[in-house]
Parts: sequence; structure tokens; C-alpha cells
Amino acid sequence: MPTPFPSRQAAQTSWSRAATTKPTTHNSEWRCTRCDKLLGVCRDGRMHLRFARGHEYLVGFPVQATCRGCGTLNNAPAPTR
Ligand SMILES: [Zn+2]
Repeated sequence: MPTPFPSRQAAQTSWSRAATTKPTTHNSEWRCTRCDKLLGVCRDGRMHLRFARGHEYLVGFPVQATCRGCGTLNNAPAPTR
């Protein structure tokens, strides 16, 4: 049978619902180089990493993090502005 709507996946990230305040400034997203998964958000010259169960990390550059999706080690040498 024909599908009336193409089942497109929600583009929003799974952790956006935890945000309590609306971002007023544009935050640079740091995404996995392989699968484009959102790894963190660069703000105020530091990288904001958020994990499950409310674990959050605000780290300075350079940042290395392993992607939750594909396991690729990503490197962010400097803040993206
Ligand atoms: Zn990945």
C-alpha cells in the first residue's frame, strides 16, 4: 500500500528536550566527522558536552571525544566561531 507521508526521521537531536533555556546566540555545533552525530556545542570558547542521565561537561580546547554512534574519535582543535 502507498505511504501517504514519507517517514522522515525527526532531525532534532535527542537531547534538545533537556534544554531549559532558549539559546539566544548561535552556538556552533560539533558533529561527528563520520556519521554527523551531534557531539557537543561550542559556546564561550569552550565545548559543552552532554551525555545521558544529565551528565554534562564543559571542557576547554583542544577537545577529543568518541562518537556515541559510530565510535569515531573526533578532534576539535580550536573553538569554531
Ligand atoms: Zn559518529
